[in-house]
Amino acid sequence: MNVEKIKQDFPILFQEVNDEPFVYLDNAATAQKPKQVLEVLNHYYEHNNANVHRGVHTLAERATSQYETSREKVRQFIHAEHVCEILFTRGTTTGLNWVARGLGDKLVSAGDEIVISQMEHHSNVVPWQELAKRTGATLVYIDLTPEGELDLEDARAKITAKTKIVSLAHVSNVLGVVNPIATITELAHKVGAVMIVDGAQSVPHMAVDVQALDADFYAFSGHKMCGPTGIGVLYGKKKWLEIMDPVEFGGEMIDFVYHDHSTWAELPYKFEAGTPNIAGAIALGAAIDYLTELGMDNIHHYEQELVNYVLPKLLEIDGVIVYGPSDPAKHTGVIAFNIDGLHPHDLSTALDMEGVAVRAGHHCAQPLLSYLGVQSTARASFYFYNTKEDADRLIEAIHATKEFFG
Ligand code: PLP
Repeated sequence: MNVEKIKQDFPILFQEVNDEPFVYLDNAATAQKPKQVLEVLNHYYEHNNANVHRGVHTLAERATSQYETSREKVRQFIHAEHVCEILFTRGTTTGLNWVARGLGDKLVSAGDEIVISQMEHHSNVVPWQELAKRTGATLVYIDLTPEGELDLEDARAKITAKTKIVSLAHVSNVLGVVNPIATITELAHKVGAVMIVDGAQSVPHMAVDVQALDADFYAFSGHKMCGPTGIGVLYGKKKWLEIMDPVEFGGEMIDFVYHDHSTWAELPYKFEAGTPNIAGAIALGAAIDYLTELGMDNIHHYEQELVNYVLPKLLEIDGVIVYGPSDPAKHTGVIAFNIDGLHPHDLSTALDMEGVAVRAGHHCAQPLLSYLGVQSTARASFYFYNTKEDADRLIEAIHATKEFFG
């Protein structure tokens, strides 16, 4: 990984913020886009813009072919068996909502249980809360160990014959831990439950093989993996997608409309109502090309190197509390922390004055924060274009902030 060279692909990183060289450490919220992706986006609009699956004119065929090529790139990237198992969505949130509505309503009834964990993003809590409300089912939370890892004993106790759905983050957007998805999938399948994975924080950072994990559904977002906003993916096993109902109707997803009823197109089009985000899907394909060229294992190892470097330095600072494991080997590049006596918003504003962008707040994980007994935290999150110098700038800026606030 020649990071200095890689960084050149990201023009946004070369600017000053508050008269300081910019350091972007809010990658868990959204990642920056390399020139290669921006060029594909521009090229599409400048040369090939047309609607897909409709016209037979040259540009319509070009747009359709590029859109479907991207679907195949996604299939290969996550090792799905069939290309019809790849649905384009707006992002992780849309994918999880589709499953909760389109399949959850069919599978779940009063007395059943839906199992999630204490570390879920709101997008993997609220669709299940709403499903429980609609059906009379109960939402059950797997607890965490004191170090912030998934408590496997508790998972074994809570995934029971009553469980119809298990939905879990692969990587937490607060604690930075990687959950043992294959193990949980096995527990879920043993009791006949459907296994759904929120892959928003995993797919951008590590090689993912949905068949090896045996997950029934896997949702992720393009914008966190160098693609544009407004495009994401829901992978679903064919056998489930055939049963699952679409949740939006009209346009692309139609087979035939009679006056009194309609029939749906085949997979995957059954779910993609209206004109899709064509440019977004094509640019996501370019992002996948970019990440593949770097190598997902290289990205993963490099980010681990950054964590090995920065986490001990952070933990050395007087008054710092890091949420999640203190062992760098168990921690991804998402690091949530607080500093005794400093409000995370003040800290984040002060770091911004030093040119360092981190997030402060509840990270859309309020049940987790209340489980941890905090209202908000700061969060630094790294990606492959960050350097050890960026990590040093974060540490220096924290020291400067501590001095300023006394
Ligand atoms: N799940 C996790 C773990 C996330 O970190 C996020 C975004 O921060 C989401 C879901 C929601 O992703 P999106 O807003 O792209 O739908």
